Amino acid sequence: MERLQKVLAQAGVASRRSCEELIVSGRVQVNGVTIRELGTKVDPASDVITVDQQPIAREKLVYLLLYKPIGVITSLADPEGRKVVTDLLPDIEERVYPVGRLDFDTSGLLLLTNDGDLANRLAHPSYELDKVYRARVKGQAEPEDVKKLAKGILLEDGMTAPGEARIVHYDPQKNQTLLEIVIHEGRNRQVRRMCAAIGHPVVTLERIRIAFLTIGKLRRGEYRHLTPEEVQQLK
Ligand code: URA
Repeated sequence: MERLQKVLAQAGVASRRSCEELIVSGRVQVNGVTIRELGTKVDPASDVITVDQQPIAREKLVYLLLYKPIGVITSLADPEGRKVVTDLLPDIEERVYPVGRLDFDTSGLLLLTNDGDLANRLAHPSYELDKVYRARVKGQAEPEDVKKLAKGILLEDGMTAPGEARIVHYDPQKNQTLLEIVIHEGRNRQVRRMCAAIGHPVVTLERIRIAFLTIGKLRRGEYRHLTPEEVQQLK
């Protein structure tokens, strides 16, 4: 929720001060009701706000692809004061929020947008976006283990949906295996729990692809805007 005068100013109606005057003079309506009280809180995403009966412009829609480093929380604020993903977007003025999440200790691709409609659709399991992870796990994983990951694993919250999994390589010096795992769901710590369930706990985890979006030239901590074609493809 935001203060009405701020929402009006952000929509480009006028300066914050002039927007306050518009409100006090009774020219602003929220969901059909005239509001004269300064500081009234509104939801810019769902409330219908008009000035002189004209709907205000909606915030410009932005779609970002962030390469999240580890040590950053996928949330807009953290009571413990840890770094949050929007701290990595200092030049973005729109109020974007993450589509799905990555753990504090997971790196990789994260979509952020202020398009609530698209975000809701993408986050829904029926949308079945491929999410591809590279997991470095303890020990030598065998083809049998990987088959189990792909077929579905029984976790506390039920069976995981079938996906794909393959061994990329085994490092005998560290006694670790690099796995590539494709899932379509987004349960809490799902990949970590799947690997632990086959006896190969995760050492490091990175999401390297979401649908057709790959890391490409992004470096850790960097983001880019999706192209209009990419946005279209996601829809
Ligand atoms: N699975 C996990 O275990 N962690 C993530 O951050 C994403 C998927």
